[in-house]
Amino acid sequence: MNAFAPKTNGSDGFEIPRGRMVEHLRNHYKIADERVLDAMNRVPRHAFVPEALKAQAYKDNALPISGGQTISQPFIVARMTELLELKGRERVLEIGSGSGYQTAILATVARKVFAVERLQVLAAEAKQKLMQIGFRNISYRCDDGTNGWEVYAPFDAMLVAAGGPSIPEPLVKQLEIGGRMVIPIGSDQKSQMLVRVTRTDKGFETENFGPCAFVPLIGTHGWEGKK
Ligand code: SAH
Repeated sequence: MNAFAPKTNGSDGFEIPRGRMVEHLRNHYKIADERVLDAMNRVPRHAFVPEALKAQAYKDNALPISGGQTISQPFIVARMTELLELKGRERVLEIGSGSGYQTAILATVARKVFAVERLQVLAAEAKQKLMQIGFRNISYRCDDGTNGWEVYAPFDAMLVAAGGPSIPEPLVKQLEIGGRMVIPIGSDQKSQMLVRVTRTDKGFETENFGPCAFVPLIGTHGWEGKK
């Protein structure tokens, strides 16, 4: 558990569905990183979904949020975080922070999160919720994240939560050698492959972790012309 993340204590009324969600991640989806499972068990997912959908917050699916975007399925949040192999000391760049739920998970398992979201309404809402819950190890920016966040580079890890046509070059450049990035890549805007990029001293290596479906990554080094 990260010293910068809030200590959760007392009951919030969602312990039982949250515990079931974590057991499903462990037994059905084979998420094995105990630090990730612990974070999923601590972060109140219901705080990041629209009021009317709170009762569904711990179900095994994505849900709609503001701006026509989605809060990712708990499984995909756990899987992407696990693929980053975070040990607790990393500085992580997150692109497409949306509801802020994935940001909270990253901020629980890593030292510091730099979160970028292109839609002002989502960025403002997420920042307020994360502050209210007690996170003090997150920096926010409302911008096109495909350019990365140069002043804070290099990053130990990166998580991109929207699907692009190719790996954005500035992101690879801002990744520490040996660092990992998880990103959905696909040649159409509706389906992608979950790819892990590892920066090497000569360039980078990629591994494919199978099909997934994310909203499009829109920006200079993503899907262009839809800004
Ligand atoms: N992990 C988030 C996922 C939100 S959906 C969650 O669980 O809530 C993906 C988000 O990526 C959307 O909020 C969308 O606005 C954002 N996005 C798309 N292109 C972006 C870009 N170039 N830079 C930053 N954010 C982007």
